[in-house]
Amino acid sequence: MAGAAVLDRPEVASLDKARAFVASRHQLFIGGRWVEPLDGARFATHDPASGAELAQVAEAREADADAAVAAARRAMENSEWTDMKPAARARLLNRLADALEANADEFAALETLDNGMPVRDARFFHLAHAIEVLRYNAGWATKLNGETIALSGMGTWHAYTVREPVGVVAQIVPWNAPLAMAVAKIAPALAAGCAVILKPAEETPLTALRLAHLVAEIGFPDGVFNLLTGFGETAGAALTAHPGVDKVTFTGSTEVGRLILRAAAANFKRVTLELGGKTPVIVLPDADPARAIEGAARAIFTNAGQVCNAGSRLFVHERHFDQVVEGVARIAEGMKLGSGFDADTQMGPVISDIQRDRVRGYVRQGIEAGATLRAGGRAVDDSGFFVAPAVLTGTDPTMSVRREEIFGPVLCAMSFADVDLDRIAAEANATEYGLGAVIWTNDLSAAHRLARTLKAGTVRVNGGGLDPALPFGGFKQSGWGRENGREGIDAYTETKAVAMAL
Ligand code: ADP
Repeated sequence: MAGAAVLDRPEVASLDKARAFVASRHQLFIGGRWVEPLDGARFATHDPASGAELAQVAEAREADADAAVAAARRAMENSEWTDMKPAARARLLNRLADALEANADEFAALETLDNGMPVRDARFFHLAHAIEVLRYNAGWATKLNGETIALSGMGTWHAYTVREPVGVVAQIVPWNAPLAMAVAKIAPALAAGCAVILKPAEETPLTALRLAHLVAEIGFPDGVFNLLTGFGETAGAALTAHPGVDKVTFTGSTEVGRLILRAAAANFKRVTLELGGKTPVIVLPDADPARAIEGAARAIFTNAGQVCNAGSRLFVHERHFDQVVEGVARIAEGMKLGSGFDADTQMGPVISDIQRDRVRGYVRQGIEAGATLRAGGRAVDDSGFFVAPAVLTGTDPTMSVRREEIFGPVLCAMSFADVDLDRIAAEANATEYGLGAVIWTNDLSAAHRLARTLKAGTVRVNGGGLDPALPFGGFKQSGWGRENGREGIDAYTETKAVAMAL
């Protein structure tokens, strides 16, 4: 059986469980109950490794969005939730983390069936991260304090602030890290005392569905967590325009982010947006080329490049340029593509045929415009949605492959001659995006100076990954606001100022 190669004995049982779950009847989770969509619609999802139909899923439309918003609003008026002590909210989140941990192998198998990622990554990165995010945010539930404020007006005052939950939150997530993104959204919202309506991507609804079963078992009050599976243009758009929704948090494309912002304007919803990126990776002359090669390859090829802050533009000092490009190209050419369940798979498929053709199209356009393909020319199995990881040199800033977010394993490599940090930063900043930046150097002064001048929400020096404590978000067209850390939970609260004349 596929999967047995990676998953040892207890985990084979998990794969069987995941398959049984995939085949079960999926519904919407609204107001603490599993319900059919009002018009009975369903849609199919596909296994990206084979293209075959995977599951039939309930399709929420406008009327179901109305029902979910009504249920969430009732939860925000129900003292069982609104008066729940912070420590009790923390316990619920910790219980959810424990439940996720207890079922982590099954969730990992489910994520790989649905998204295609190597099951090892699903288990040891996506699941591990989701569990940590729940525990981290559980910790915040008991620490959402206001301040006392010293006032200067005439008279004597006692003034203070309190942080209240923002209310009903619609949370719309993409397909590249389905569970990790869903949990990154629900954990701080629930810790802050909000009620949520989660809409996973239509391509990858399965781990969110399984998560809703855990939520139901753990005993959150009815309507605190609701799940709508369905399409962006219908269920998603209905939520973002809904007058009963107080806040929208979204991770996805910049284009859809703009639509969401417009829809949210009607009732001035609070909005947090995590959008696209075109992250620069900068290798200074003092860097160890071997580490830079490994880091640069990881930055662009992880998750088949379907990462918002994938390091898609590589700037290397000319001293190391040939060596680094050859090194990354060698890794790309040697990468084993295949099912996420095969033990030796290093890169899974991309999410869909549309995405595969889009990514290949960018590479083709780059070559037609004069770029040189240094890796990525090999043929790959076309029964699934595979893309050969590609490395291009000789691009220029007008080319789409260099300018636009590709969301695939495609790297543009450029060299620079002088160590003029302002010029390097200016080139790295020459993009409408500003999500991440990576620097490889041991020169402290250069690292800190670049960190100051790079216009990016996250600057990493010599590696480093995601952490629930580290704020994550974008400058410029990469988004609004931050997730994770103190800022991430604050974004689910409103500040109320209370001033009392004594
Ligand atoms: P991608 O381009 O990476 O597929 P999208 O930004 O299109 O990402 O989708 C991310 C999420 O946004 C998905 O859950 C999708 O259903 C949802 N979505 C797409 N269009 C809209 C829309 N107009 N309104 C609300 N949500 C949408």
